[in-house]
Amino acid sequence: MTLIDPQEYREAFVQYLRKGTPIRFETKNTRPTTHYVWRTRRDGKVRSSHAEREGQVFSWDDPPEGGHPGEDYGCRCTAEPYLSQTSEFMEISLQGVSGGGAAWSSRDFVNHYYRGNGRGVTVRETGHLSAIVEEYMAQVESKLKDQVAREARKKRDGSFTDTFYNTYGMTGVVFSIGDTVIGGEFSGSAEERHGVLSVEGSFDFYLRDEFADPADIGIEVIDPGETIFENIHRPLDNYLRGRTGLPPRGPQRLGVQTGEPYSITDDWSGTLSGQLYLDPARSAYG
Ligand SMILES: [Zn+2]
Repeated sequence: MTLIDPQEYREAFVQYLRKGTPIRFETKNTRPTTHYVWRTRRDGKVRSSHAEREGQVFSWDDPPEGGHPGEDYGCRCTAEPYLSQTSEFMEISLQGVSGGGAAWSSRDFVNHYYRGNGRGVTVRETGHLSAIVEEYMAQVESKLKDQVAREARKKRDGSFTDTFYNTYGMTGVVFSIGDTVIGGEFSGSAEERHGVLSVEGSFDFYLRDEFADPADIGIEVIDPGETIFENIHRPLDNYLRGRTGLPPRGPQRLGVQTGEPYSITDDWSGTLSGQLYLDPARSAYG
């Protein structure tokens, strides 16, 4: 058996996991890594001295008593390439987050309630999408990776989908959006080789919210002068105009502000690529 550069094998192994590029015969049949994990068949026929080695890491240069897996008489144990913890990774990159104009103020949100005739807006249109997505990812990124890792382990080989949905506090980012629902779906596939899972897939994210009642966002705190005008002076003005036969200047009625609730929505996407241990006990994910 010839020794090969462990780095060469590792690169070939990663290419195999990611792209299916076959590992060259001469690479596959040499010692793949400097270390390996001892794997038994985990049945009653495993000799106790080998059962104790299940999951332990050994060096190819320093065989334990009786030799490496499969070398001792009748041994059915195998050597699993040992990757250091740092060779695990899960990366999410987002698409469709940029764009949008100047950021709406709280007053812009309220104005749209009264003057937008209920027309829905996108978060992008309000200029807040990148900030909202950034805050969302700060809250969920590691949870999403763990969730995908768990589903990938359950699937082990083949495609799978996973949905997620929750309410997130965005008051600190965009006061008018407040608590909002963000959800989505992951669609991807897993491939297991030698105890290492390769995971690839894409995310479709959505945000669904409604701007329903300006009082909820505390408009009276934001702009008392405007509120008094909108709630008292303008309705009174319209009432008086009505008494004198003039058409009202706005949609307001006396004492009641009439606005139209409107939807605030958006969609964006992302991709995930990862390589992680099948065994959650050895993994940083899941
Ligand atoms: Zn054995």
